[in-house]
Amino acid sequence: MHELAVTQGILDIALGSLEEAGGHRVGRIDLAIGEMTGVVEECVRFYFGVISRGTPAEDAELSVRVVPTSARCQSCGETFLVRECGWVCPRCASACSDLTGGKELIVESIEVRDGSQGTQRHP
Ligand SMILES: [Zn+2]
Repeated sequence: MHELAVTQGILDIALGSLEEAGGHRVGRIDLAIGEMTGVVEECVRFYFGVISRGTPAEDAELSVRVVPTSARCQSCGETFLVRECGWVCPRCASACSDLTGGKELIVESIEVRDGSQGTQRHP
């Protein structure tokens, strides 16, 4: 996964939302990053600091929520977190399961500041 491209996408979304909302600054960006994406939070923060410079998002606070890898058993329907032990269902020991979480790469919300009326949140 290339964090620079990912971060560019996040910045584009933030600036798009800012324009839609008619605000002047991006105050905060809430991100959800799945464990399985391989995206490293520190890299995103680093790149964001570099590429947001000179844009209305340069002082934005990045809030990152890491989404653990989870799966649902095809046999019994149990939902469980996938750990080092792998994909075997902890309830019935079936090895057939579907990925239900961990591949997220989502901008959950963006806080736009218009300079005069405090903050607005845009889901
Ligand atoms: Zn099961």
